[in-house]
Amino acid sequence: LLDRVESHAALGAFLSVDADVALAQAAAADAWRARGVSGAGHTLLGVPIAHKDIFVTRDFPSTAGSKMLDGYRSPFDATVVSRLASAGAVTLGKLNCDEFAMGGSNENSAYTPARNPWNTDRIPGGSSGGSAVAVAARLIPAATGTDTGGSVRQPASLTGITGIKPTYGRCSRYGMIAFASSLDQAGPMARSALDCAHLLQAMSGFDPRDATSAEQPVPDFVAATTTLREGATAEHPLAGLRIGLPKEFFGEGVSADVLAATRAALAELEKLGATLVEVSLPRTELSIPVYYIIAPAEASSNLSRFDGVRYGHRAAQYKDLNDMYRKSRSEGFGTEVKRRIMIGAYVLSHGYYDAYYLQAQKLRRMIADDFQAAFTQCDLIAGPVSPNVARPIGSQTDPVAEYLADIFTLPASLAGLPGISVPAGFGAGGLPVGLQLIGNYWQEGALLHAGHALQ
Ligand code: GLN
Repeated sequence: LLDRVESHAALGAFLSVDADVALAQAAAADAWRARGVSGAGHTLLGVPIAHKDIFVTRDFPSTAGSKMLDGYRSPFDATVVSRLASAGAVTLGKLNCDEFAMGGSNENSAYTPARNPWNTDRIPGGSSGGSAVAVAARLIPAATGTDTGGSVRQPASLTGITGIKPTYGRCSRYGMIAFASSLDQAGPMARSALDCAHLLQAMSGFDPRDATSAEQPVPDFVAATTTLREGATAEHPLAGLRIGLPKEFFGEGVSADVLAATRAALAELEKLGATLVEVSLPRTELSIPVYYIIAPAEASSNLSRFDGVRYGHRAAQYKDLNDMYRKSRSEGFGTEVKRRIMIGAYVLSHGYYDAYYLQAQKLRRMIADDFQAAFTQCDLIAGPVSPNVARPIGSQTDPVAEYLADIFTLPASLAGLPGISVPAGFGAGGLPVGLQLIGNYWQEGALLHAGHALQ
């Protein structure tokens, strides 16, 4: 596996690999197995994984895809990292991503873009692009990602793998380098819904070190994936399941090839027993301005800690303290990160706060309410993940056009709802298309079940 990672280095999936660490962990897993330690609590014994470089790790550098944290070593492991390690997983290294998870293409990585294994001139999506590439190229069976506005679901969709963003609060954010704290969630990315269930099982659960972590019981996701609902049969495992199709997700703005693949996957779900009903999420379009106010606002605050004093990059020469701040941040942050810090500082500033940030917060609540209205008519919501298949690397220079492509992932993010992307088929150029399923709060099991039935 380490050789395969090495021979596929040109894909840009990994930012760091440490064979010594990985082999030591593998030897420990072998020793556990020899002692008969497997089963409960060690469900991932010996399974090779890697983490998005947003999670801090003691054994590997943690860069968040930024020059700002080049070579940074954390003195502790993120909760998600230590939970997966306790379950027996073996970590190979850290995965490429857009700088501080800001982006949807991995082109914003300060190190190297990641390449889509289906066509290496194409983006793999982002910001968890390295995670998607590593799984899609079969370098590792599973990886962690993070999703603030779609960063697990969208790269999963564009590389033909499965990725689930759990309900906000399901996985601890402790040790996840913060982008937009009210939206950030960890999520597994793997080949199948069942593999995602295995990872999510280990990753989930209350953590007193994250104030927004929910004291919510963790169900058996693996069992939920395969257990039939009441009235369902092996032939019709989704009998009785109502799937809502928001009409705003199927209008203009979705390319014909993505729409065709999405509809074909929906027809499959119908064959499996599900009923399709039309619903409405009337504020879908507003999710873009709302997200691109709230996320930069929180980012501008979170990223103020990178000041050249406590972490990471510090300018070599400076006149005084302010000059040191200015130079360190100018040199350490990339263009997109700077753009977001400036937007965020602007919308939070005196005189503009009410007009932008407060308005966005009110609309965010309404977007969440729209979902609750829709869930009176259906159990799950389905639609596309991304309006297009993976575009060529370097083909998008307009940041606003790039933001618009997040339209189908942002609503669930703003509402804090769980969402999964499962492979739906192929679109233009033979490139993968994902189907998105969104559930109500804490319904990850239902998403994994439907995703598994489709696979
Ligand atoms: N593409 C979105 C953004 O750029 C989502 C990123 C994410 O989920 N981390 O903010």
